[in-house]
Amino acid sequence: MNTVSFPYDVVLTGGTVIDPATGLNGRYDVAITGGKIAAVVPDLSQVQAREKIDVSGKLVTAGMIDTHAHVYEHVTGKFGLNPDMVGVRSGVTTLIDQGGPSCMTIGGFRNYLVDTADSRLLCFISCYLVGGLEGHLYPDLYGPHGVNVDHTVRVAKENLDIVRGIKAHAEIGGQSRWGLEVIKTGREIARQTGLPLEEGPVPDADELIRELVPFMEPGDVLAHPFTRHPGGFVSKEGEVHPIVFEAIARGVRVDVGHGSHFSFEVAKRVLDAGVRPFTLGADLHGYNVKAPSAGGKDTREENPFFGIAPFSLTIAMSELLALGMTMEEIIATVTSNPAAMVRMEDEIGALKVGRDADISVMEVLNGRFKLSDNSGVEVVTDRLIRPVFCLRDGVRHDSDSPLIPDAIAA
Ligand SMILES: [Zn+2]
Repeated sequence: MNTVSFPYDVVLTGGTVIDPATGLNGRYDVAITGGKIAAVVPDLSQVQAREKIDVSGKLVTAGMIDTHAHVYEHVTGKFGLNPDMVGVRSGVTTLIDQGGPSCMTIGGFRNYLVDTADSRLLCFISCYLVGGLEGHLYPDLYGPHGVNVDHTVRVAKENLDIVRGIKAHAEIGGQSRWGLEVIKTGREIARQTGLPLEEGPVPDADELIRELVPFMEPGDVLAHPFTRHPGGFVSKEGEVHPIVFEAIARGVRVDVGHGSHFSFEVAKRVLDAGVRPFTLGADLHGYNVKAPSAGGKDTREENPFFGIAPFSLTIAMSELLALGMTMEEIIATVTSNPAAMVRMEDEIGALKVGRDADISVMEVLNGRFKLSDNSGVEVVTDRLIRPVFCLRDGVRHDSDSPLIPDAIAA
């Protein structure tokens, strides 16, 4: 039997570490032992390890957290993607499913997905009894009749290890039929569980955003600020709603929730107005990306969220870079900030000794690359962020997901 023992299992050498949680930004080596981060120091080149991985020229961050995932595979029909394709196989170690599981279906989420996926899975539980079936494609399933506050509060409290927030879904049709009823219910569930509430956009938002935002409390999350659909942060007059600034000043957080509706023009206007997203969130789902398992007849085009512009979490990061946010700000939106959003800043989102070794390694390609949105806007960028691999609890997963878009030369 081989009895040689090494001080470290894995050492990542030569990478550029950017870790907003600790303020590290520079060349550091990272050592892992027993699935935990064992050292983050300038030079471990002389130290022995079972495996050394040269990550020179690459970006090394805490394991990325996608705040807006839809991965309740199979149960939510075509909507839910395979968790590991969105997660570890795309360089992302933690996924927060937004509103897939409900008080009735959280058991399936835990047993079939949380317990079996290589990615770390959390969720914002749906305030609807049925959860996010087919991405809310059948409106008759949803409405105030389909909500039970007591049941949802009880189940959320019983599953706090994986339920980290409440999703009140008001997209497409919801608001127009039942006003703010469901949002109020979601806020009540959030109040009784002590969890944050995430709220999506609302149709014809100019009036509704003024009604909706005052309900939101510090730590709550307002999603989709850059959407090209009505319901984003920009009014019909082209201005950022003043109420958005008031909400941010009150401690309400902004999540990009990229999806197929991300608009460069809206994003530029919102960013120019001084609004900074707190978290990113890819919002990939079975209607806005082509899942390899889709097979047969492709009905994605019939869905209101259908889009053709290729995207992913790292594409969304590249877009924010092209829009002028700094690399440090962007890394924070996928590491320390989402960890704070789900109140797990003591567990994930930082490269600290003793933490689970959730680490993302990316490359930043230099050249001329084309980025596009579904409004037909194309942007040429000189830097493109691509995932290379990640470690989840110290185990390596290469970025081989079929959902990662190809780099497009400009
Ligand atoms: Zn979504």
